Amino acid sequence: AGRLLDVEDLHVEFRTRDGVAKVLNGVSYHVDPGETLAVLGESGSGKSVTAQTVMGILDTPPGFITGGAIRYDGEDLLTATDARRRELRGDSMAMIFQDALSALNPVFTVGFQIAEQLRLRRGMSRKDATARAVELLDMVKIPNAKQRVKEYPHQFSGGMRQRAMIAMSLALDPKLLIADEPTTALDVTVQAQIMDLLDELRRERGMGLILITHDLGVVAEVADRIVVMYAGRIVEAADAYSLYAQPGHPYTEGLMRSIPRLDLKGQDLDTIKGLPPNLMKIPSGCPFHPRCPRAQDRCQEQVPEQHLLGGGRTSACHFAEELMTSE
Ligand code: SF4
Ligand code: MG
Repeated sequence: AGRLLDVEDLHVEFRTRDGVAKVLNGVSYHVDPGETLAVLGESGSGKSVTAQTVMGILDTPPGFITGGAIRYDGEDLLTATDARRRELRGDSMAMIFQDALSALNPVFTVGFQIAEQLRLRRGMSRKDATARAVELLDMVKIPNAKQRVKEYPHQFSGGMRQRAMIAMSLALDPKLLIADEPTTALDVTVQAQIMDLLDELRRERGMGLILITHDLGVVAEVADRIVVMYAGRIVEAADAYSLYAQPGHPYTEGLMRSIPRLDLKGQDLDTIKGLPPNLMKIPSGCPFHPRCPRAQDRCQEQVPEQHLLGGGRTSACHFAEELMTSE
């Protein structure tokens, strides 16, 4: 079977009054059918921009794609017509966001919003579309779906709204679902429930799932593979299990240390010092060097290549091999 999604050497820049921000600088990743890829990084690392570019919803201007390729099921998306991109959105790929309240329209009932898509895109009657909306709310485990389909978004709790948005995104049976920080606004228990739900839906439907997050802890149990982004690059890619067992990049090590741990309750988290770089002035050499506790002189001058670490793992660090063998 072929790849569901293939992103290859993607370059995006934002052209603003103040200058050009190099937002994506050669991003490559892929997703197979039925697989969960977690895309991890701090805000500003380019994870959302990559997803928007895949979906064809990048704001242009200021965003411009300056290089690379995106293929969905073998089809080249960057040369596809706008009409084809619209058709693919919803039908083949869908995206959900952190803030369900602003993604849902406050003046229509949840059921109407789901049914409307089915009427417009599938030509279903109002009655059939509403019946399907109830099934979809049921599928995302919203209790009492027959009643709730008639309610407005503000009548739903945060977690239930997120479920409703998932139901809406799956109405047209996409093969790829992109979830951008889907649980960030929710409390920890609800976060875990939403992750479980996404995982279950992915399995039942054989969908590809991309989970975008800044929190390595949230995706631990559901990700098959993880790519870590920094300054618009992939700095590490690995299967989830071996990445958690042994990070292959100093930035990933920092992210691991900043996961809250139950056994260290009350202690300050060991966060990564400093701030992500200004993308109009990305540091020379390894872009992470100003913040890296392992930086050496050469890190300021030489851009690290992707080191192949075996088992499909890669790391863009000059000392990747040493990291993997040290403890
Ligand atoms: Fe740190 Fe150097 Fe590796 Fe970059 S290349 S992550 S600065 S050790
Ligand atoms: Mg984001």
